[in-house]
Amino acid sequence: MGIADRLERFGETIFTTITALANKHEAINLGQGFPNFDGPQFVKDAAERAMREGANQYPRSFGVSELVHAIAKRFNADTGLDVDAMTQVTVTSGCTEALAASFLGLIEPGDEVVLIEPTYDAYLPDASMAGAIPKFVTLRAPDFRLDPDALRQAFSPKTRAIVVNTPHNPTGRVFDSEELQAIADLCHEFDAIAITDEVYEHMVYEGKHVSLASLDGMWDRTVTLSSLGKSFSLTGWKVGWAIAPEHLTAGVRAAHQFLTFTTASPLQYGAAAALHAPNSYYVNLATDYKVKRDLLAGGLGAIGFKVSMPQGTYFMLADHTRFGFDNDIEFVKHLIETAGVAAIPPSAFYHRPEDGASLVRFAFCKDEETLRAAIERLAALDA
Ligand code: PMP
Ligand code: GLN
Repeated sequence: MGIADRLERFGETIFTTITALANKHEAINLGQGFPNFDGPQFVKDAAERAMREGANQYPRSFGVSELVHAIAKRFNADTGLDVDAMTQVTVTSGCTEALAASFLGLIEPGDEVVLIEPTYDAYLPDASMAGAIPKFVTLRAPDFRLDPDALRQAFSPKTRAIVVNTPHNPTGRVFDSEELQAIADLCHEFDAIAITDEVYEHMVYEGKHVSLASLDGMWDRTVTLSSLGKSFSLTGWKVGWAIAPEHLTAGVRAAHQFLTFTTASPLQYGAAAALHAPNSYYVNLATDYKVKRDLLAGGLGAIGFKVSMPQGTYFMLADHTRFGFDNDIEFVKHLIETAGVAAIPPSAFYHRPEDGASLVRFAFCKDEETLRAAIERLAALDA
């Protein structure tokens, strides 16, 4: 079976479907996670300057020196880990490419990969492209904690990797030290690697973001992925990266060379400027998002949704069952067509769709006026 055949069953991504439907009905789009405000001027200025000054030919395949050094410095400030910018950091076209390169470069056909569901939509197709066999651990409402027994059951001698997304899309969980240590212990016991997706690392409202790579003994078996898009409200730039010891970086780079070879040059210079932002930038980002989170959660709660308060990310899950719909897809259709608000049906993130049928995911990366307008429209549901 070819890759196209293997991917056919995944169809169009839910984000494309919902965005099209939202546009058709002129709905307020709280579906796909993109800010409706622009990224910082100093970052755009740096990219523009680079373009004007001629940084317009193929850059170094693994990332321009300015950017890989900025990534290494930021990673050190966040985790205390000292990484070698030139040999342990690889710039990719978004975290999406970093994920694909990690799967394709580090996983052999027939290897098992543990996925924590609800899973971000790319992981399962990535596993499929790599010929990996997915093993699922399901986070359950209302607290979506990682169950250590279920986690252990997903591991076997065939396990090559676990994918860990913290802060977690779509639940908003920020996995705590106990949960991360349980993952680390199993990685050691089964000689598995971890691929960690940390794109929401700077959006934490409760708890503390911990990179799995910083746990004892984990640097050597972890590929840490992140990107610029969320932290700098520039989701369209698609600048991401993978940080890993040389023996894992080798796999990521082998695939990256032939997936995209490199990433848009001026945007890499913009990203380097972004990553030199002072800590106060990140503090303000999280403070602003917390206000938006509380605004939307309060509004949804007052209308009758049972909200799972996110500890991080710019998403929240809510239980919609009080409104009497059979499943999340029916509910979201009604929401878009009748209330004029778009959201994501989370069954798309589960291998058994029924596990997500009672939930709906809202994005709150919007200005307050838009969030208030959405709440006002949603209040009509109650009528
Ligand atoms: N991982 C998660 C959990 C995400 O939500 C996203 C958002 N698109 C990505 C990866 C992809 O990031 P990027 O846009 O940098 O490719
Ligand atoms: N990460 C975004 C979300 O979860 C979607 C990105 C995409 O469309 N691939 O909403």
